[in-house]
Amino acid sequence: MDLRFLDLPELRLKYYVFGSGGSPRALITAAIHGDEVTGVFAAYKLIEYLRQKGSGIAGTAIIIPVVNVLGFNARTRFNPVDYVDMNRVFPEGAGSAITKKIVKFVWELASSSDYVLDLHCAGLNSYQYILALHKEFPKVREFANIIPWDTVVESTGTRGQLFVEATHRGIPAVIIETRGGDGYYDREWGEELYRVTLGMLVNLGVVSDSSVSTYSKTEKTYYGKLVHVKTPVEGFPEFIVEPGAFVMKGDVLSQVSGETIRSPVSGKVIRVERNTFVFSDSSVASIAPFEEQ
Ligand SMILES: [Zn+2]
Repeated sequence: MDLRFLDLPELRLKYYVFGSGGSPRALITAAIHGDEVTGVFAAYKLIEYLRQKGSGIAGTAIIIPVVNVLGFNARTRFNPVDYVDMNRVFPEGAGSAITKKIVKFVWELASSSDYVLDLHCAGLNSYQYILALHKEFPKVREFANIIPWDTVVESTGTRGQLFVEATHRGIPAVIIETRGGDGYYDREWGEELYRVTLGMLVNLGVVSDSSVSTYSKTEKTYYGKLVHVKTPVEGFPEFIVEPGAFVMKGDVLSQVSGETIRSPVSGKVIRVERNTFVFSDSSVASIAPFEEQ
């Protein structure tokens, strides 16, 4: 195990390198959005596992548990110094010198890796999913296919995201979005995310561990781009469906101030709003649509 640092005048960014330095090389990042803590929890569990393992690492695993160091400290999505969303400005960076230096540093590590996995949170009422450009890029689909999780959603492909830019450079890269956000993590989903990332490293051949490999046989469903369902009125939503549930087109998702919100598509419920106030024309649920629609 090798704990290393990127030292800047304002902060110290920690990262961990396990293995020989050779291929396959996998980069795992978390908290590019500083308030998304569940990925940080999973990353530290993975670091602990690899630290205790010592031998049996055939390739290289590079883990940055917290990319947006100042945002993580302040529990903000953005870098609080410049309000830049770090996951919109790859590979060059933007805003302050801090953001530019961190983005360029992470990009250097990504460019020299064979695979990139970036961990995010989709909110406190969400179902875990792999987000990828799986339709356009066969190598990305192959990569997603060996990650032991059941739900893969097509990305909108917004440029400037670490995984999108890496994908366009020919490096298979995906995000895993899990439950958490606003500075809070979910322990149960954090444990699940840890098992998924470890299973991925085993399936890539970075780590050998026979007790983990059986976990790789996961049936997958590939979905289209997320459909965000909006409410026409404001109010306190009364959710009807749970994240992870399947719905048919026309099924009731939520009630807001007496209005019934129905799903415009058939698919899987990824996120619902609850325990909060929603404004008119804002999203109350996100549905991953079945691909053949
Ligand atoms: Zn995020």
